[in-house]
Amino acid sequence: MDDFAADPSHPRYQSLLKRHQLEKAAEKGMLAGSALIAHGRGEAYDYLLGEQTIPSAMLATEFALNQLINAKKCVISLNGNTTALAGIELMKIASAIDCPVEVNIFYRTPERMKVLLEHLESINEKFGLNVKILGANPDSLIPGLEGPRAKCCKDGIFSSEVILVPLEDGDRCEALVAMGKTVIVVDLNPLSRSSRMASITIVDEISRVARNMLSLIENDDQLNDGENYENAKTIQKSILYITKSLSEKYDLQI
Ligand code: ATP
Ligand code: MG
Repeated sequence: MDDFAADPSHPRYQSLLKRHQLEKAAEKGMLAGSALIAHGRGEAYDYLLGEQTIPSAMLATEFALNQLINAKKCVISLNGNTTALAGIELMKIASAIDCPVEVNIFYRTPERMKVLLEHLESINEKFGLNVKILGANPDSLIPGLEGPRAKCCKDGIFSSEVILVPLEDGDRCEALVAMGKTVIVVDLNPLSRSSRMASITIVDEISRVARNMLSLIENDDQLNDGENYENAKTIQKSILYITKSLSEKYDLQI
């Protein structure tokens, strides 16, 4: 990958690669100033999770995919970090389940929107996809939010019953849930407002989630149908996983 010099045998290879992808995205103007801080917080939680998909996250991923596939209308919302780290996989997922993607960024500037939209168009071209890319002309507002972050597209977020919004802001997540939608959030931090507000919380790293979803689709796997699904339990399990693995590793007597 261009000037990326780390050796795949390096123990921190995956982490270094993701940092590099974000650095490149920042150079292209895809990210807001706070994007790397948000990533750093995610990395810290990923350390606690052992940088792997834990079983409760995999079940939530399956159930989320099931909801997306069976929705009358769904959409995948993309911001800068998500596009940089998992843009290709999420575009392939959108193509496979036949839904649009919508660029929806917290700090909306015309320049960043343009770079992100063009980047996604280039993924369509490169991989021979025909995914509808929304976000250039927002024509609706999410009720209960002030300013530019309320903007969205009628054809996408506004009218979809199920939405995948990785790395979402807690406030916007809450507003989307209040609209009656099934809101699927991907957030490494199980304590965040987004995690606690969402309908389905996948406590996992976005590029792993996107790869997991893609392989579930490609293998045509049987998906968890979410019978008796309780999101609070999913969150509890991720916190329990962290506390249990730390207490075992460091022989903590709690
Ligand atoms: P909230 O708004 O939900 O209360 P917050 O303000 O703490 O949360 P945000 O800035 O909204 O956080 O989003 C950043 C969060 O995204 C981080 O706390 C981190 O957990 C999560 N995150 C960052 N990078 C990734 C990633 N690659 N995969 C999954 N989650 C990530
Ligand atoms: Mg958040």
